[in-house]
Amino acid sequence: MDNKILVGPFRQIITMDEVPLKGPLHDNQLHIIESAWILIQDGKMISIDSYNKLKNKVVDGKDEIQQMNGDHVAMPGMIDPHTHICYAGSRSNDYALRLSGMSYLEIAARGGGIWSTVTNTRNASDETLYLNTHTRASSLLNDGVTTAEVKSGYALNVEDELRMLEVIKRINDSNEIDLVSTCLAAHTLPKDFQGSAKQYLEFLIKNLLPEVVKRKLSSRADIYIEKNAFSADEGLFYLKEAKNLGFDAIVHADQFTTGGSEVAVEVGAVSADHLEVTSDREIALLARSDVIPVSLPGASIGLGVSFAPVRKILDAGCSLAVASDWNPGSAPMGDILVQACMLGVYEHLTMAETLASITYRAAAALRLRDRGILKKGNQADIVAFPVSDYRDIVYYQGKMKPDIIMKKGKLIHKP
Ligand SMILES: [Zn+2]
Repeated sequence: MDNKILVGPFRQIITMDEVPLKGPLHDNQLHIIESAWILIQDGKMISIDSYNKLKNKVVDGKDEIQQMNGDHVAMPGMIDPHTHICYAGSRSNDYALRLSGMSYLEIAARGGGIWSTVTNTRNASDETLYLNTHTRASSLLNDGVTTAEVKSGYALNVEDELRMLEVIKRINDSNEIDLVSTCLAAHTLPKDFQGSAKQYLEFLIKNLLPEVVKRKLSSRADIYIEKNAFSADEGLFYLKEAKNLGFDAIVHADQFTTGGSEVAVEVGAVSADHLEVTSDREIALLARSDVIPVSLPGASIGLGVSFAPVRKILDAGCSLAVASDWNPGSAPMGDILVQACMLGVYEHLTMAETLASITYRAAAALRLRDRGILKKGNQADIVAFPVSDYRDIVYYQGKMKPDIIMKKGKLIHKP
């Protein structure tokens, strides 16, 4: 057993313990421990209590005491359950053209759009792809994101989709942040595939997914169900086959047209992500299921479109996670805290709903049960903000970043 670490004092510890997974949350449902310290061993929390109760559990000269200066409020390390940070090349030119009024189709015709990212990613060396992704992962960690999901999906052929997943795995192994990888080879029909969308999906099922399983690169399969990508029927077919191979199903759903969330419910997906145009009908379906709705406010901000109707989604009894969707096309910001706070303003989320959506409820969107809540036995993934009241975290609209970040009990030093 490692030596113990006693860290504190914290004016408040927002534990997220006993917060329900689904439905609306009032701020008074937050479990807050006042003036406490956290005792850590072997990367896990073993106790949260007052200094007087914990000081006898550490041995002078052997264990470590990390004393914070000034007021701090701690909460679980943030979890970003939907990103596309493994890519090469910038799309700032697309962004400029979009701001000047050009449509996505016109931009794509000029050599922009997703195909430019696919080309750049395929052409990037392993080292470039590794460094790009590592830099973005470190930036997430420095903002207090201690676990992030990362998708493939900018290669769209067997060899380079596997390469993307290998890069994500290498970064997970070399960077303190935990990365959960997802195979998104069904992002769009690649221009250079000879055949229909259905034939491409059959090709992935036969040639890519078994190899992903064999190399243990991912246990999550995602598909983009949208008018210009894959139909609901194609999505249903693909995800059923992926589940038979042992994958969890994820859906990019209802971003511009509906259909995706219904498929998510039908296949028992872990999450349905986007939901900008989700209507009452889909919300009712989601509410009766275990699918976690994931809102991506960064994509709405990037494209200048409405946010997902998350107030209605919560009021219907659904859960709600928020993710950055960090990607080069529609969501280049990659700041989950700013985005969750923005979403909260426009959709009237309580502070409890905003904070749960990027911690405990986001963990559920990745089926992770050992984090997202500060309690005994969980991973010591902890962030602390230099404030004396937890409401300041949301009040500063994401501008205020944590100055203490711990991953599995290890203090992360910001550059
Ligand atoms: Zn996405």
